[in-house]
Amino acid sequence: MENFKLTRIAPTPSGFLHLGNLYSFLITYALSRKFNSKILLRIDDLDLERVKKKYIQDIFDTLDFLEIGYDMGPKNVKDFKQNFSVYHRMDLYQNILEELIEKNLLFACDCSRNKIAKMHPRGFYTGYCQTRNLPFEYQETNLRIKTPVQNELTIKTLTGCLSHKIPGILRDFVARKKDGSPSFQLQSVIDDLHYGVDLIVRGRDLFGSSLAQTFLASQLGENNFSHITFHHHDLIMSKKNKKLSKSAGDTSIQFLRKNGKKKEDIFLLLGKILGLKEEIKSIDDF
Ligand SMILES: [Zn+2]
Repeated sequence: MENFKLTRIAPTPSGFLHLGNLYSFLITYALSRKFNSKILLRIDDLDLERVKKKYIQDIFDTLDFLEIGYDMGPKNVKDFKQNFSVYHRMDLYQNILEELIEKNLLFACDCSRNKIAKMHPRGFYTGYCQTRNLPFEYQETNLRIKTPVQNELTIKTLTGCLSHKIPGILRDFVARKKDGSPSFQLQSVIDDLHYGVDLIVRGRDLFGSSLAQTFLASQLGENNFSHITFHHHDLIMSKKNKKLSKSAGDTSIQFLRKNGKKKEDIFLLLGKILGLKEEIKSIDDF
């Protein structure tokens, strides 16, 4: 059986951790045990408007409370800020952007969200600015990467290779945002490459991102993203059949803790939601 070196848990600190995050952690843990891989805690604090210090603190508090350990990554908020924040890797992202520009893969786009929504019935980007040759330095422009429209991309998963086109919503996805910072897609893939992650566990809702990121990495000179294996797990749905979100306060671990739930209660609750036959009371029971 193939083993992996490193997988990761990568919560976004734009809300309190909820049962959906815990489910993703459980699957990541089970797979790391199965494949003898280490686990990296990777926190993406790029989006300053949504990222809050209390949410970063909540990640450490929740992992501690639930006794979920990891092998690499920050130990606390201070360690995170000093050694792991994405802001320490801005030069790295910039170098990648320059490499993509040199290879003539990026184009500048000044379309507003409104304009894009009006140009396509489903709000997909139409490639409108691809031939407009707007200058890259121009303020308030996104840099987009030209994505293949017809070709399928292949990614490796635990159950074999999957080939798929990049979904329309990610056509010519943004690599550098209007404020000059890297996009989520670029930052996420570059960080995984940077840390040497070779097994990515994430929800099915990010399948399109896996394709987009694989495409981006395949355009880089040093491409080892093709060695990465993905596992896309189902999502826990709320009663209204919506994906659990961080705004859904009543499923946040913090809310449950404040209402007197113990570690065991939270695992039992998750097991019940998942319809597991056997009770789980800790991460090792899963
Ligand atoms: Zn445009």
